[in-house]
Amino acid sequence: MDKTTEKRLLDAAIEAMHRAYAPYSHFHVGAALLDADGRIWQGCNIENASYPATICAERSAISAAVSAGVRKFSAIAIVGGPNGEIGDICTPCGICRQVLCEFCPPDFPVYLGHSQGHTVLALRELLPYAFSLLETEVTS
Ligand SMILES: [Zn+2]
Repeated sequence: MDKTTEKRLLDAAIEAMHRAYAPYSHFHVGAALLDADGRIWQGCNIENASYPATICAERSAISAAVSAGVRKFSAIAIVGGPNGEIGDICTPCGICRQVLCEFCPPDFPVYLGHSQGHTVLALRELLPYAFSLLETEVTS
């Protein structure tokens, strides 16, 4: 991905992070999902008094895109931190890794923003040997 698109994606994740609804954990997360047509779908974590009803930023972004009929993605950027202050990388939780695997190939780039820049990991590095009912390439 070119540097301009990388910056656009990471900036969109930061923008989304500032919309997080996290009155319980105060841990704000933003995600920006780049689709195959170059559009960006944003998501933030949305907590709930009934804790399991909380949805993460990554699944929030995927839900927005898939609900609009978009299922082909090129990359995702994720940022997060206490009260929206970005420090270390914020990696997706196990459920979000599984949901990403439903729509994204094993080599899908996951941009993880941190205070000094970003790190890029392939989805297969975050969830090796992923469970899938669809035919995909072997992840090992
Ligand atoms: Zn998650």
